[in-house]
Amino acid sequence: MFKKVLIANRGEIALRVIRACRELGLETVAVHSDCDADCAHVKYADQAICIGPHQPSASYLNVPNIVSAAEISGADAIHPGYGFLAENAQFAEVCESCNITFIGPSSASITDMGNKSRAKKIMAKAGINGVPGSDGPVKDEKEALKFAKEAGYPVIVKASAGGGGRGMRLAQNDNELRKLFNTARQEAKSAFGNPEVYIEKYLDHPRHIEIQIMADNYGNVIHFGERDCSIQRRHQKLLEESPAVNLDSKIRQALCKLAVKAAKTINYRGAGTVEFLVDKKGNYYFMEMNTRIQVEHPVTEAVCGIDLVREQINVASGEKLAIIQSKIDFKGHAIEFRINAENSENNFLPVAGKVDYINIPGGFGVRVDTHVYSGYTVPPFYDSLLAKLIVWGNNREEALARAKRTLTELEIKGLPTTIPFHLKVIDNDYFKQGKVYTNFIAHRILGEK
Ligand code: ADP
Repeated sequence: MFKKVLIANRGEIALRVIRACRELGLETVAVHSDCDADCAHVKYADQAICIGPHQPSASYLNVPNIVSAAEISGADAIHPGYGFLAENAQFAEVCESCNITFIGPSSASITDMGNKSRAKKIMAKAGINGVPGSDGPVKDEKEALKFAKEAGYPVIVKASAGGGGRGMRLAQNDNELRKLFNTARQEAKSAFGNPEVYIEKYLDHPRHIEIQIMADNYGNVIHFGERDCSIQRRHQKLLEESPAVNLDSKIRQALCKLAVKAAKTINYRGAGTVEFLVDKKGNYYFMEMNTRIQVEHPVTEAVCGIDLVREQINVASGEKLAIIQSKIDFKGHAIEFRINAENSENNFLPVAGKVDYINIPGGFGVRVDTHVYSGYTVPPFYDSLLAKLIVWGNNREEALARAKRTLTELEIKGLPTTIPFHLKVIDNDYFKQGKVYTNFIAHRILGEK
């Protein structure tokens, strides 16, 4: 096992990892930018090192500074959290070459899955079908029109290197596709450093269902069931739940099996998520694989009773998976609410500033992961996630009642948050019936077309 783990991240996820390390008896090193000296993860770690100014590129994405911090502090492993360097193959490689364990998959797996069009190709070869569309990247307008014709409109143009719900453009017909194709390439180049795009049929009212997996270094792979992440705004997840309501058990089983197969196909190790879209008819398609621990992992932890970050650290240290598939006992229902510093009345515009006061709810079946405290100032340079509220109940009804209670107890003063918005969602009759799909928020809550 490691002695000291450096956490190359900030905010709630850094705190989450520090907590898992502490329970494992591992020392921790926090890194932070100059504006984050007062962030909670810095206070909770055994040691803290400033790695640069507030710009992400100068600090949390600054590979030489992070590796130096690990070397100076004597850390023998780095946990990247999610975002920042979590899916940066080069960073994983640098760690490997410096004899520091990167708590995550091999750089080869990150490279394979990081390019979404390549990932689809690899999976298709293994018999795991993606959403119908181009057979890899699309070079020019002519090719784009050809694939769109084959797949049928509407189509979505996606950046191969895209992520976080960005880098996607919808085209309803040839004309629109012609107009946006080159812009999409340029945007992909400036946003992700790679102009490559590919085309997919845009599915009608799909659900986003993802499967959590974990693999050790010895070829053992297990799954932890599904999460429904259909409640999104502009392709960004806002609320996640497990199990997925009204999902046919045959589909659930098939997806779990495919996710394990996907991991085995690329000799994966560590925690990962295989994302699928499921259409109205029950057809399912591979969308992408995320090679990191995800924001929404606590939903799975709540229904499985397993600390995924702890397991992730264990397998990274070379231990065999301690759990076998048949022993995973799924119990009850869990829902996670992302509490963002955003103005849902103003197009979900992120806001920075001081949190005058926060009241964190508690009680049975309640978990709040947050780095925010009363008096904390949210800097404008990073993402707007303030807290994750996770509720568990014996069934969905109980979880929803608990959600209503805790969303009301959770008070954040000084900044607008997504709390009122979540209250609206859980009060919606369609949501209560579990009739969710990826455009649910746009259609059912915001009344958009
Ligand atoms: P990212 O990596 O940016 O999160 P994904 O490929 O996971 O991007 O897609 C994010 C979301 O975009 C999906 O959950 C879904 O809502 C929507 N989406 C992506 N591809 C399609 C598609 N072919 N048809 C319909 N919706 C899609």
